[in-house]
Amino acid sequence: MHDVTALKALLQEPRRIFITTHHKPDADALGSSLGLAGYLRKKGHQVTVVTPSDYPDFLSWMPGNEDVVVFEPGRNDRRIQDILDQCDVLFCLDFSALGRINELGEYVRRARATKVLIDHHEQPEPFADLAFSFPSAAATAELVFEIIRDLGDQALITPEIGECLYAGIMTDTGSFRHPSTSRNVHMIIAELLDAGINLSAVHRRIYDSHSEERLRFLGFVLKDKLRVLREYNTAYIAITADELRQYHSKTGDTEGLVNFALSIEGIVFAAILIDRVNAVKISFRSVGEFSVSEFSRRHFNGGGHHNAAGGISYEPLDAAVQRFLDLLPEYQTQLVTAPLTV
Ligand code: 5GP
Ligand code: MN
Repeated sequence: MHDVTALKALLQEPRRIFITTHHKPDADALGSSLGLAGYLRKKGHQVTVVTPSDYPDFLSWMPGNEDVVVFEPGRNDRRIQDILDQCDVLFCLDFSALGRINELGEYVRRARATKVLIDHHEQPEPFADLAFSFPSAAATAELVFEIIRDLGDQALITPEIGECLYAGIMTDTGSFRHPSTSRNVHMIIAELLDAGINLSAVHRRIYDSHSEERLRFLGFVLKDKLRVLREYNTAYIAITADELRQYHSKTGDTEGLVNFALSIEGIVFAAILIDRVNAVKISFRSVGEFSVSEFSRRHFNGGGHHNAAGGISYEPLDAAVQRFLDLLPEYQTQLVTAPLTV
């Protein structure tokens, strides 16, 4: 049970509520935000969900998506400030550091509203007035479910709200295969099924809704871009800006690619480095004891979870790749001896 006394008091009367989540929201970021928004609206609150960037088309089916405001610095700053000025409560979902919401971070830091963090990333920054921070949780959507339940409102979870939450839990557990997939997770899914969610429809909307071009891009990446370094049990992929252009890559088209690198037998560490507009964005994944959040924090200005983390580099792509490769010898012993379970 979560201690929801303070939150309950905060939501006692109708509030104006601002919900935000991390840069390039994934299914857990958007699903937990829209699930919470759906619930809060049913309770009579006025809610605006603001994302710090756009997000993949395969998330646009989520109920409430049509009302999401995407922050575009230089274009709708005034509007965002107005919404923030008017809100009483500000929820921060699925991130633990204000740097993860780009320019929106400063707006949130300055906002006078009561800030509530709901998150499962490691090392939370202390910017919230009320924090539900549980790095052992499988997904932020899991925490949102529990908080609604502990507020005594599980009966208000409609199939629409449930499907947003299910999407977050399904994706952040890697479709129920990561070690975070606890008994509790499965029990929550059982509750969501009772609430009437269509689990296979959610799966199909997220995983089986690729464009033909995205699939061709995947073929190209696997055939020509995947590098396997057996001596380090490591595999990586580096994608140039030209290659992204050539395949008309859209937001979300590179999501999940890193998992293919990790799916090779014997590989315990995988990375993908992508040359984005202002920086090289990196995703790290591991199996077992090797901590990619620590690796990313130490070397690539990032963080996340033990087995899934992200980072950033402001070097040219080639230099970032070279630095990544130069780091591997330092970790060789760990990478070849690390147990496969945590
Ligand atoms: P992804 O590789 O899918 O972008 O992110 C993997 C996990 O690490 C997610 O939980 C994501 O929120 C987190 N993450 C991604 N990029 C960063 C980053 O630059 N800094 C931190 N602290 N976490 C990140
Ligand atoms: Mn998450």
